[in-house]
Amino acid sequence: MLRKLLPVVASALLCCFFKSAMAADHMGDSSLHQPKYMLVIHGGAGTILKSKMTPEKEKAYQEALTAALQAGYSILKSGGSSLDAVTAAVRVMEDSPLFNAGKGAVFTNEGRNEMDAAIMNGKTLEAGAVASVTVIKNPITAARAVMEKSQHVMMIGAGAEKFAKQAGLEIVDPSYFYTEDRWKALQQVKAADSTKMQLDHDSVVHKSAARLGVENRDHKFGTVGAVALDKQGNLAAATSTGGMTNKKFGRVGDSPIIGGGTYANNATCAISCTGWGEYFIRLVVAKSVSDLMEYKGWSVQQAADEMIMKKVPALGGDGGLIAIDKDGNIAMPFNTAGMYRGSVTADGKITVAIYK
Ligand code: ASP
Repeated sequence: MLRKLLPVVASALLCCFFKSAMAADHMGDSSLHQPKYMLVIHGGAGTILKSKMTPEKEKAYQEALTAALQAGYSILKSGGSSLDAVTAAVRVMEDSPLFNAGKGAVFTNEGRNEMDAAIMNGKTLEAGAVASVTVIKNPITAARAVMEKSQHVMMIGAGAEKFAKQAGLEIVDPSYFYTEDRWKALQQVKAADSTKMQLDHDSVVHKSAARLGVENRDHKFGTVGAVALDKQGNLAAATSTGGMTNKKFGRVGDSPIIGGGTYANNATCAISCTGWGEYFIRLVVAKSVSDLMEYKGWSVQQAADEMIMKKVPALGGDGGLIAIDKDGNIAMPFNTAGMYRGSVTADGKITVAIYK
């Protein structure tokens, strides 16, 4: 009897084993279809040449980019939101004097630091921005407060600062933003301004610069930005900047303009731009990338290339952008010599790059 039963019991056990193995395999399959989470950052584009970089400076940039990626990644890994991840990554770069945002912001023609920032939630299309702020330690947190604690999208100058104070954000003396490098850069640009001939004989970009009343002699755009996709499949984008060296009082660039330098939509992608802001505003670059994807069905790479490699240079502008689409595809085009940039994927792999 037992002999007769043994094969039956054995086959029943085998059957159970295969069934559960198949179920586990199926679960594995479905987990593959869960959104990949990731974070991409930039620290500005421009004439960033290896020949002009010291090994120490290069290392400092790589470390700062890595620290920003780690700050955002730990949030995404533990199930946090893309909004929290981009805020954290941008804050790290705002606190570093290496980048043109927060500490390290460039000077206006009048020798002040006037900063702009924006953030956008791809899930709800809610957005917040501040412009021309001078005493908020981390302008990106102010942009976020505008989005979450007010009924508005953009607040500027003294009003934005009053609002930030009321929201309990850290306020600093304007002298906190002083860095010697940026001060020297302003003096250099001002000295070059007095020799107008040089500008007029220079490239189209320089002529436009003279007309626009802004100048960035070595064409470095140190703006910072971050885009992220979280475990829930939500996209977010954030950008923060000091603008452009020698900009006129009250000048606002593309960074805080929703659709200009910053945009996020779960249906398409999240984008943060860096470059000659006036051109990015006129071409509504960030929203155009999203529109090309939505209405033409283009990939994020195609759409980003169209704006950065064709439209922006066609008008005489330069710069770059970072983008992540809803499926976790990344694009980081730039038409300048370099762009400080980096990414971290769900497996924790961090990649940073500076040159072409
Ligand atoms: N886009 C910024 C602006 O025009 C500058 C930058 O990217 O560094 O204000």
